[in-house]
Amino acid sequence: MKIAVAKEIDPSEPRVAASPDTVKKFKALGVDIAIEPGAGIKSGLPDSEFTVVGATVSADALKDADIIIKVKRPEASELAQYKRGALVIAIMDPYGNDAALKAMADAGISAFAMELMPRITRAQVMDVLSSQANLAGYRAVIEAAEAFGRAFPMMMTAAGTIPAAKVFVMGVGVAGLQAIATARRLGAVVTATDVRPATKEQVESLGAKFLAVEDEEFKNAQTAGGYAKEMSKEYQAKQAALTAEHVKKQDIVITTALIPGRPAPKLVSAEMVKSMKPGSVLVDLAVERGGNVEGAKAGEVADVDGIKIVGYTNVAGRVAQSASSLYARNLFNFIETMIDKPNKALAVNWDDELVKATVLTKDGAVIHPNFQPKA
Ligand code: NAD
Repeated sequence: MKIAVAKEIDPSEPRVAASPDTVKKFKALGVDIAIEPGAGIKSGLPDSEFTVVGATVSADALKDADIIIKVKRPEASELAQYKRGALVIAIMDPYGNDAALKAMADAGISAFAMELMPRITRAQVMDVLSSQANLAGYRAVIEAAEAFGRAFPMMMTAAGTIPAAKVFVMGVGVAGLQAIATARRLGAVVTATDVRPATKEQVESLGAKFLAVEDEEFKNAQTAGGYAKEMSKEYQAKQAALTAEHVKKQDIVITTALIPGRPAPKLVSAEMVKSMKPGSVLVDLAVERGGNVEGAKAGEVADVDGIKIVGYTNVAGRVAQSASSLYARNLFNFIETMIDKPNKALAVNWDDELVKATVLTKDGAVIHPNFQPKA
Protein backbone atom coordinates (compact mmCIF):
# COMPACT_ATOMS: atom_id res chain seq x y z
CA MET A 1 0.00 0.00 0.00
CA LYS A 2 1.40 3.37 -1.01
CA ILE A 3 0.52 6.91 0.03
CA ALA A 4 1.85 9.87 -1.95
CA VAL A 5 2.25 13.39 -0.60
CA ALA A 6 1.63 15.97 -3.32
CA LYS A 7 3.47 19.25 -3.69
CA GLU A 8 0.87 22.00 -3.85
CA ILE A 9 0.79 23.72 -7.24
CA ASP A 10 -0.98 26.84 -5.99
CA PRO A 11 1.91 29.22 -5.28
CA SER A 12 -0.07 30.84 -2.45
CA GLU A 13 -0.38 27.53 -0.56
CA PRO A 14 2.62 26.92 1.70
CA ARG A 15 1.16 24.01 3.67
CA VAL A 16 1.90 20.33 3.11
CA ALA A 17 -0.19 17.27 3.96
CA ALA A 18 2.47 15.24 5.80
CA SER A 19 5.05 15.80 8.50
CA PRO A 20 8.03 13.70 9.61
CA ASP A 21 5.85 12.67 12.57
CA THR A 22 3.03 11.31 10.38
CA VAL A 23 5.46 9.65 7.96
CA LYS A 24 6.87 7.73 10.93
CA LYS A 25 3.37 6.73 12.00
CA PHE A 26 2.45 5.53 8.50
CA LYS A 27 5.70 3.59 8.19
CA ALA A 28 4.97 1.90 11.52
CA LEU A 29 1.72 0.63 9.96
CA GLY A 30 3.70 -0.83 7.04
CA VAL A 31 2.64 1.83 4.54
CA ASP A 32 5.07 3.16 1.90
CA ILE A 33 5.24 6.94 1.69
CA ALA A 34 6.44 8.78 -1.41
CA ILE A 35 6.82 12.54 -1.47
CA GLU A 36 7.00 14.87 -4.45
CA PRO A 37 10.28 16.79 -4.36
CA GLY A 38 10.05 20.04 -2.43
CA ALA A 39 6.55 19.31 -1.12
CA GLY A 40 7.37 20.52 2.38
CA ILE A 41 9.85 23.26 1.70
CA LYS A 42 7.47 26.18 2.30
CA SER A 43 6.57 24.63 5.64
CA GLY A 44 10.21 24.49 6.68
CA LEU A 45 10.47 20.78 5.80
CA PRO A 46 13.16 19.94 3.23
CA ASP A 47 13.03 16.52 1.53
CA SER A 48 15.76 15.24 3.85
CA GLU A 49 13.42 15.59 6.87
CA PHE A 50 11.12 13.07 5.20
CA THR A 51 13.73 10.66 3.85
CA VAL A 52 15.37 10.37 7.26
CA VAL A 53 12.13 8.89 8.63
CA GLY A 54 11.75 6.45 5.74
CA ALA A 55 9.88 8.27 2.95
CA THR A 56 11.08 8.16 -0.64
CA VAL A 57 11.24 11.37 -2.66
CA SER A 58 10.34 11.03 -6.31
CA ALA A 59 8.96 13.13 -9.14
CA ASP A 60 6.74 10.12 -10.00
CA ALA A 61 5.40 9.81 -6.46
CA LEU A 62 1.75 10.25 -7.44
CA LYS A 63 1.54 7.83 -10.37
CA ASP A 64 0.85 4.51 -8.68
CA ALA A 65 -0.26 5.76 -5.25
CA ASP A 66 -3.33 4.20 -3.62
CA ILE A 67 -3.92 7.35 -1.58
CA ILE A 68 -2.83 10.89 -2.48
CA ILE A 69 -2.84 13.45 0.31
CA LYS A 70 -2.80 17.18 -0.37
CA VAL A 71 -3.92 20.47 1.08
CA LYS A 72 -6.02 21.91 -1.76
CA ARG A 73 -8.39 20.31 -4.25
CA PRO A 74 -6.47 18.90 -7.27
CA GLU A 75 -6.59 20.79 -10.55
CA ALA A 76 -6.96 19.14 -13.98
CA SER A 77 -3.20 18.86 -14.54
CA GLU A 78 -2.89 17.01 -11.24
CA LEU A 79 -5.87 14.72 -11.82
CA ALA A 80 -4.22 13.50 -15.05
CA GLN A 81 -1.35 12.05 -12.97
CA TYR A 82 -3.43 9.93 -10.57
CA LYS A 83 -4.34 6.32 -11.16
CA ARG A 84 -8.08 5.62 -11.50
CA GLY A 85 -9.51 4.39 -8.24
CA ALA A 86 -7.00 6.28 -6.09
CA LEU A 87 -8.29 7.99 -2.95
CA VAL A 88 -7.48 11.70 -2.91
CA ILE A 89 -7.88 13.44 0.43
CA ALA A 90 -7.70 17.24 0.78
CA ILE A 91 -9.56 20.41 1.73
CA MET A 92 -11.84 20.29 -1.31
CA ASP A 93 -13.85 23.53 -1.06
CA PRO A 94 -16.84 21.76 -2.66
CA TYR A 95 -19.55 24.45 -2.32
CA GLY A 96 -20.41 26.06 -5.66
CA ASN A 97 -17.63 24.18 -7.44
CA ASP A 98 -19.69 21.66 -9.42
CA ALA A 99 -17.36 21.61 -12.45
CA ALA A 100 -14.37 20.75 -10.26
CA LEU A 101 -16.33 17.95 -8.59
CA LYS A 102 -17.30 16.55 -11.99
CA ALA A 103 -13.67 16.68 -13.12
CA MET A 104 -12.68 14.60 -10.08
CA ALA A 105 -15.49 12.13 -10.78
CA ASP A 106 -14.43 11.87 -14.42
CA ALA A 107 -10.85 11.16 -13.33
CA GLY A 108 -12.18 8.08 -11.54
CA ILE A 109 -10.82 9.04 -8.13
CA SER A 110 -12.51 8.81 -4.76
CA ALA A 111 -12.23 12.39 -3.51
CA PHE A 112 -12.61 13.11 0.21
CA ALA A 113 -13.28 16.60 1.62
CA MET A 114 -11.69 16.86 5.06
CA GLU A 115 -13.75 19.95 5.91
CA LEU A 116 -16.95 17.87 5.78
CA MET A 117 -15.79 15.71 8.69
CA PRO A 118 -18.66 15.47 11.18
CA ARG A 119 -18.02 17.31 14.44
CA ILE A 120 -18.53 14.30 16.64
CA THR A 121 -16.27 13.19 19.48
CA ARG A 122 -14.67 10.36 17.50
CA ALA A 123 -13.69 12.72 14.68
CA GLN A 124 -12.30 15.58 16.78
CA VAL A 125 -8.77 14.40 16.01
CA MET A 126 -9.57 14.71 12.28
CA ASP A 127 -11.21 18.15 12.45
CA VAL A 128 -9.27 20.34 10.02
CA LEU A 129 -11.68 23.25 10.41
CA SER A 130 -10.75 23.45 14.08
CA SER A 131 -7.02 22.82 13.71
CA GLN A 132 -6.68 25.49 11.04
CA ALA A 133 -9.13 28.01 12.55
CA ASN A 134 -7.30 27.84 15.85
CA LEU A 135 -4.05 28.92 14.17
CA ALA A 136 -5.85 31.52 12.06
CA GLY A 137 -7.29 33.07 15.23
CA TYR A 138 -3.84 33.23 16.77
CA ARG A 139 -2.29 34.66 13.63
CA ALA A 140 -5.05 37.28 13.22
CA VAL A 141 -3.90 38.87 16.48
CA ILE A 142 -0.26 38.77 15.37
CA GLU A 143 -1.24 40.47 12.08
CA ALA A 144 -3.17 43.09 14.02
CA ALA A 145 -0.26 43.72 16.38
CA GLU A 146 2.08 44.02 13.41
CA ALA A 147 -0.13 46.55 11.62
CA PHE A 148 -0.85 48.56 14.79
CA GLY A 149 1.43 51.47 15.62
CA ARG A 150 1.12 50.99 19.36
CA ALA A 151 1.95 48.32 21.92
CA PHE A 152 -0.73 45.88 23.09
CA PRO A 153 0.08 45.74 26.82
CA MET A 154 -0.14 48.64 29.20
CA MET A 155 3.41 49.79 29.94
CA MET A 156 4.31 52.03 32.85
CA THR A 157 7.73 53.40 32.16
CA ALA A 158 9.90 56.26 33.41
CA ALA A 159 9.10 58.03 30.15
CA GLY A 160 5.36 57.74 30.68
CA THR A 161 2.49 55.27 30.55
CA ILE A 162 1.23 53.55 27.43
CA PRO A 163 -2.40 52.40 27.66
CA ALA A 164 -3.36 48.80 26.84
CA ALA A 165 -4.84 48.25 23.37
CA LYS A 166 -8.59 47.62 23.18
CA VAL A 167 -9.40 44.53 21.11
CA PHE A 168 -12.92 43.50 20.05
CA VAL A 169 -13.44 39.98 18.67
CA MET A 170 -16.62 39.40 16.64
CA GLY A 171 -17.56 35.73 16.26
CA VAL A 172 -16.44 33.39 19.02
CA GLY A 173 -16.01 29.98 17.39
CA VAL A 174 -12.68 28.20 17.35
CA ALA A 175 -10.81 31.10 15.69
CA GLY A 176 -12.43 33.76 17.86
CA LEU A 177 -11.65 31.95 21.11
CA GLN A 178 -7.99 31.64 20.15
CA ALA A 179 -7.93 35.31 19.10
CA ILE A 180 -9.30 36.30 22.52
CA ALA A 181 -6.74 34.14 24.33
CA THR A 182 -3.86 35.46 22.21
CA ALA A 183 -4.86 39.12 22.59
CA ARG A 184 -5.18 38.61 26.35
CA ARG A 185 -1.71 37.04 26.49
CA LEU A 186 -0.37 40.13 24.76
CA GLY A 187 -1.97 42.27 27.44
CA ALA A 188 -4.88 43.80 25.54
CA VAL A 189 -8.25 44.67 27.08
CA VAL A 190 -10.55 42.28 25.21
CA THR A 191 -14.28 42.25 24.49
CA ALA A 192 -16.13 39.81 22.26
CA THR A 193 -19.54 39.15 20.73
CA ASP A 194 -21.37 36.22 19.16
CA VAL A 195 -24.98 35.31 18.40
CA ARG A 196 -24.73 31.95 20.18
CA PRO A 197 -25.54 32.32 23.89
CA ALA A 198 -23.18 29.45 24.80
CA THR A 199 -20.22 31.66 23.91
CA LYS A 200 -20.86 34.17 26.72
CA GLU A 201 -19.44 31.86 29.38
CA GLN A 202 -16.50 30.88 27.15
CA VAL A 203 -15.61 34.53 26.56
CA GLU A 204 -15.78 35.30 30.27
CA SER A 205 -13.70 32.23 31.18
CA LEU A 206 -10.91 33.68 29.03
CA GLY A 207 -11.00 36.93 30.98
CA ALA A 208 -12.75 38.96 28.28
CA LYS A 209 -16.04 40.84 28.46
CA PHE A 210 -19.11 39.70 26.49
CA LEU A 211 -21.19 42.15 24.50
CA ALA A 212 -24.48 41.26 22.77
CA VAL A 213 -28.18 42.05 22.56
CA GLU A 214 -29.40 39.24 24.83
CA ASP A 215 -33.09 39.05 23.80
CA GLU A 216 -35.38 36.02 23.19
CA GLU A 217 -34.03 35.45 19.67
CA PHE A 218 -30.46 35.41 20.99
CA LYS A 219 -31.43 32.76 23.56
CA ASN A 220 -32.46 30.44 20.68
CA ALA A 221 -29.78 31.32 18.16
CA GLN A 222 -27.84 28.08 18.27
CA THR A 223 -28.67 25.11 16.01
CA ALA A 224 -28.70 21.57 17.37
CA GLY A 225 -25.33 21.15 15.67
CA GLY A 226 -23.87 24.00 17.70
CA TYR A 227 -23.65 26.46 14.81
CA ALA A 228 -25.03 29.97 14.42
CA LYS A 229 -28.37 30.62 12.70
CA GLU A 230 -28.83 33.52 10.33
CA MET A 231 -30.40 36.21 12.55
CA SER A 232 -33.54 38.25 11.71
CA LYS A 233 -33.19 41.71 10.18
CA GLU A 234 -34.51 43.18 13.44
CA TYR A 235 -31.91 41.43 15.56
CA GLN A 236 -29.14 42.38 13.16
CA ALA A 237 -30.20 46.05 13.40
CA LYS A 238 -30.20 45.99 17.23
CA GLN A 239 -26.87 44.20 17.30
CA ALA A 240 -25.41 46.64 14.77
CA ALA A 241 -26.46 49.63 16.89
CA LEU A 242 -24.86 48.14 19.99
CA THR A 243 -21.64 47.16 18.26
CA ALA A 244 -21.41 50.48 16.36
CA GLU A 245 -21.14 52.36 19.66
CA HIS A 246 -18.54 49.88 20.89
CA VAL A 247 -16.42 49.68 17.71
CA LYS A 248 -15.87 53.47 17.81
CA LYS A 249 -13.85 53.07 20.99
CA GLN A 250 -11.75 50.08 19.86
CA ASP A 251 -8.17 49.99 18.59
CA ILE A 252 -8.41 46.55 17.03
CA VAL A 253 -11.40 44.63 15.65
CA ILE A 254 -10.98 40.98 14.66
CA THR A 255 -13.92 39.37 12.85
CA THR A 256 -14.39 35.61 12.44
CA ALA A 257 -18.18 35.26 12.00
CA LEU A 258 -19.42 32.52 9.69
CA ILE A 259 -22.71 30.70 9.10
CA PRO A 260 -22.31 27.26 7.48
CA GLY A 261 -23.35 27.25 3.82
CA ARG A 262 -24.18 31.01 3.78
CA PRO A 263 -22.18 34.12 2.91
CA ALA A 264 -20.43 35.67 5.93
CA PRO A 265 -22.69 38.12 7.82
CA LYS A 266 -21.77 41.80 7.35
CA LEU A 267 -21.03 43.02 10.86
CA VAL A 268 -18.93 46.17 10.39
CA SER A 269 -20.23 48.80 7.96
CA ALA A 270 -18.10 51.39 6.19
CA GLU A 271 -19.44 54.01 8.63
CA MET A 272 -18.38 51.90 11.59
CA VAL A 273 -14.88 51.59 10.11
CA LYS A 274 -14.73 55.36 9.63
CA SER A 275 -15.86 55.96 13.21
CA MET A 276 -12.62 54.40 14.47
CA LYS A 277 -9.50 56.42 15.25
CA PRO A 278 -6.77 56.64 12.59
CA GLY A 279 -4.18 53.97 13.31
CA SER A 280 -6.85 51.43 14.26
CA VAL A 281 -6.73 47.98 12.64
CA LEU A 282 -9.42 45.52 11.55
CA VAL A 283 -8.59 41.93 10.62
CA ASP A 284 -11.33 40.13 8.66
CA LEU A 285 -10.87 36.36 8.85
CA ALA A 286 -14.13 35.82 6.94
CA VAL A 287 -12.87 37.66 3.85
CA GLU A 288 -12.78 34.50 1.72
CA ARG A 289 -16.50 33.94 2.38
CA GLY A 290 -17.49 37.50 1.45
CA GLY A 291 -16.16 39.24 4.57
CA ASN A 292 -17.60 40.61 7.84
CA VAL A 293 -16.14 44.07 7.27
CA GLU A 294 -17.28 46.39 4.51
CA GLY A 295 -14.25 47.42 2.45
CA ALA A 296 -12.13 44.35 3.28
CA LYS A 297 -10.29 43.12 0.19
CA ALA A 298 -9.21 39.49 -0.12
CA GLY A 299 -5.44 39.18 -0.04
CA GLU A 300 -4.86 42.87 0.70
CA VAL A 301 -4.45 45.40 3.46
CA ALA A 302 -6.91 48.19 2.64
CA ASP A 303 -6.31 51.67 4.03
CA VAL A 304 -9.39 53.76 4.84
CA ASP A 305 -8.30 57.21 6.04
CA GLY A 306 -5.45 55.73 8.08
CA ILE A 307 -7.48 52.77 9.35
CA LYS A 308 -6.16 49.44 8.10
CA ILE A 309 -8.39 46.53 7.10
CA VAL A 310 -6.30 43.37 6.90
CA GLY A 311 -7.87 40.89 4.46
CA TYR A 312 -5.25 38.18 4.18
CA THR A 313 -6.50 34.86 2.86
CA ASN A 314 -5.26 31.47 4.04
CA VAL A 315 -4.26 32.95 7.39
CA ALA A 316 -3.46 29.51 8.84
CA GLY A 317 -0.97 29.18 5.97
CA ARG A 318 0.84 32.19 7.44
CA VAL A 319 1.89 29.89 10.28
CA ALA A 320 2.62 27.16 7.75
CA GLN A 321 4.83 24.92 9.84
CA SER A 322 2.31 24.60 12.67
CA ALA A 323 -0.65 24.44 10.28
CA SER A 324 0.98 21.62 8.28
CA SER A 325 1.89 19.69 11.37
CA LEU A 326 -1.70 19.74 12.71
CA TYR A 327 -3.28 19.14 9.29
CA ALA A 328 -0.95 16.18 8.72
CA ARG A 329 -2.06 14.68 12.04
CA ASN A 330 -5.75 15.19 11.14
CA LEU A 331 -5.12 13.30 7.88
CA PHE A 332 -3.21 10.49 9.57
CA ASN A 333 -5.98 9.98 12.10
CA PHE A 334 -8.56 9.67 9.31
CA ILE A 335 -6.50 7.42 7.05
CA GLU A 336 -5.61 5.14 9.95
CA THR A 337 -9.31 4.16 10.05
CA MET A 338 -9.00 2.95 6.44
CA ILE A 339 -6.10 0.56 6.99
CA ASP A 340 -6.43 -3.13 7.70
CA LYS A 341 -3.50 -3.33 10.10
CA PRO A 342 -2.81 -7.09 10.21
CA ASN A 343 -2.72 -7.22 6.41
CA LYS A 344 -1.16 -3.78 5.92
CA ALA A 345 -3.77 -3.17 3.23
CA LEU A 346 -6.23 -0.47 2.27
CA ALA A 347 -9.68 -1.41 3.57
CA VAL A 348 -12.14 1.48 3.35
CA ASN A 349 -15.42 0.90 5.17
CA TRP A 350 -17.72 2.78 2.81
CA ASP A 351 -20.51 2.57 5.39
CA ASP A 352 -18.51 4.40 8.08
CA GLU A 353 -20.23 7.69 8.93
CA LEU A 354 -16.92 9.57 8.58
CA VAL A 355 -16.38 8.17 5.08
CA LYS A 356 -19.98 8.80 4.04
CA ALA A 357 -19.84 12.39 5.28
CA THR A 358 -16.62 13.26 3.45
CA VAL A 359 -16.55 11.27 0.20
CA LEU A 360 -17.54 13.44 -2.77
CA THR A 361 -16.85 11.23 -5.78
CA LYS A 362 -16.45 7.52 -6.44
CA ASP A 363 -16.53 5.17 -9.44
CA GLY A 364 -16.87 8.04 -11.92
CA ALA A 365 -19.75 9.86 -10.23
CA VAL A 366 -20.38 12.61 -7.68
CA ILE A 367 -21.93 10.55 -4.87
CA HIS A 368 -22.22 13.00 -1.95
CA PRO A 369 -25.92 13.75 -1.36
CA ASN A 370 -25.28 17.48 -0.81
CA PHE A 371 -23.45 17.94 -4.09
CA GLN A 372 -25.59 16.09 -6.61
CA PRO A 373 -25.44 17.62 -10.10
CA LYS A 374 -28.61 19.60 -10.83
CA ALA A 375 -30.95 17.91 -13.29
P1 NAD B 1 -17.78 29.08 12.46
O1 NAD B 1 -16.42 29.19 11.88
O2 NAD B 1 -18.86 28.44 11.68
O3 NAD B 1 -18.31 30.54 12.92
C1 NAD B 1 -17.52 31.36 13.76
C2 NAD B 1 -18.41 32.04 14.78
O4 NAD B 1 -19.17 33.09 14.17
C3 NAD B 1 -19.42 31.13 15.46
O5 NAD B 1 -19.18 31.12 16.84
C4 NAD B 1 -20.77 31.77 15.12
O6 NAD B 1 -21.70 31.63 16.16
C5 NAD B 1 -20.36 33.21 14.91
N1 NAD B 1 -21.34 34.06 14.22
C6 NAD B 1 -22.15 33.77 13.17
N2 NAD B 1 -22.93 34.82 12.86
C7 NAD B 1 -22.60 35.83 13.71
C8 NAD B 1 -23.07 37.17 13.88
N3 NAD B 1 -24.02 37.69 13.12
N4 NAD B 1 -22.51 37.91 14.88
C9 NAD B 1 -21.55 37.38 15.68
N5 NAD B 1 -21.09 36.13 15.55
C10 NAD B 1 -21.60 35.35 14.58
O7 NAD B 1 -17.68 28.36 13.89
P2 NAD B 1 -16.70 27.23 14.39
O8 NAD B 1 -15.45 27.85 14.88
O9 NAD B 1 -16.59 26.19 13.34
O10 NAD B 1 -17.47 26.68 15.65
C11 NAD B 1 -18.88 26.50 15.63
C12 NAD B 1 -19.32 25.62 16.75
O11 NAD B 1 -18.85 24.29 16.60
C13 NAD B 1 -18.83 26.03 18.12
O12 NAD B 1 -19.86 25.77 19.03
C14 NAD B 1 -17.69 25.12 18.39
O13 NAD B 1 -17.41 24.99 19.75
C15 NAD B 1 -18.25 23.86 17.79
N6 NAD B 1 -17.19 22.92 17.49
C16 NAD B 1 -17.37 21.61 17.86
C17 NAD B 1 -16.37 20.69 17.60
C18 NAD B 1 -16.52 19.25 17.97
O14 NAD B 1 -17.37 18.92 18.74
N7 NAD B 1 -15.72 18.37 17.42
C19 NAD B 1 -15.21 21.08 16.96
C20 NAD B 1 -15.07 22.41 16.60
C21 NAD B 1 -16.09 23.32 16.87
